[in-house]
This record gives sequence, structure tokens and C-alpha cells, in this order.
Amino acid sequence: MFSTLPLKIKFLTIVKSVVNIHEFQELMKDLYLEKDLKRGKERTMLKLMEEVGELAEAVLLEDEEKVSEEMSDIIAWVFSIANLYDINLSNAFKEKYNQVCPKCNESPCICNSI
Ligand SMILES: [Zn+2]
Repeated sequence: MFSTLPLKIKFLTIVKSVVNIHEFQELMKDLYLEKDLKRGKERTMLKLMEEVGELAEAVLLEDEEKVSEEMSDIIAWVFSIANLYDINLSNAFKEKYNQVCPKCNESPCICNSI
């Protein structure tokens, strides 16, 4: 569905999503920052790795519901780590993926790797 949208609408959709990324990061901060600070960066990173393992298992089992759940958990833990480093992930994302592939500077990407 997304790939059939005209480029301008696709870009506007992406910009809107990036705004929502910041809102989501703020939500994660409100919900978990205190616990994240107590746990610390290293143990929070381990939590993320644990969720990546669970996603791998769900993918191998082709359990789509579990894949969806685990991806949500992974994103939540990434935001926890971003909050511990006081990184604005919305800005970081916009800087790195500024409408083109950061490696080849093209859209769509023309890098040889798949
Ligand atoms: Zn590329």
C-alpha cells in the first residue's frame, strides 16, 4: 500500500510519522524513565537483546502475532536506551535518513547489498 503512494504524499506521511516518533519517545519517558535509570544502560541493552532473540524465534516460527508484539517491545526498548542517553531519536532519524539512503545518497537506494 505504502509503495503505491506518490512520492510527495509518501514523504509527508514519513514526516508525520517522525513527529509521532517524538511523541512516542516522550510517552516511553513518562512511563519508564525512572525504572530505566535504576536499571542502567547495560542492563537495558540486555533487555533489548532479549527481545531481539524473541523476535528471531517468532520469525522462525512464522508467528505473525508474536512478530508484531516483539517488534513493539524492541522499539520500546530502543526508546528507553535513547532516553538514557538523552538522544532525540526523531532528530537523529531525520539527520541520518534525510530523504535518501545515507550510504549511496539515492532514493530509492541503489547500494549493492540486499
Ligand atoms: Zn543505498
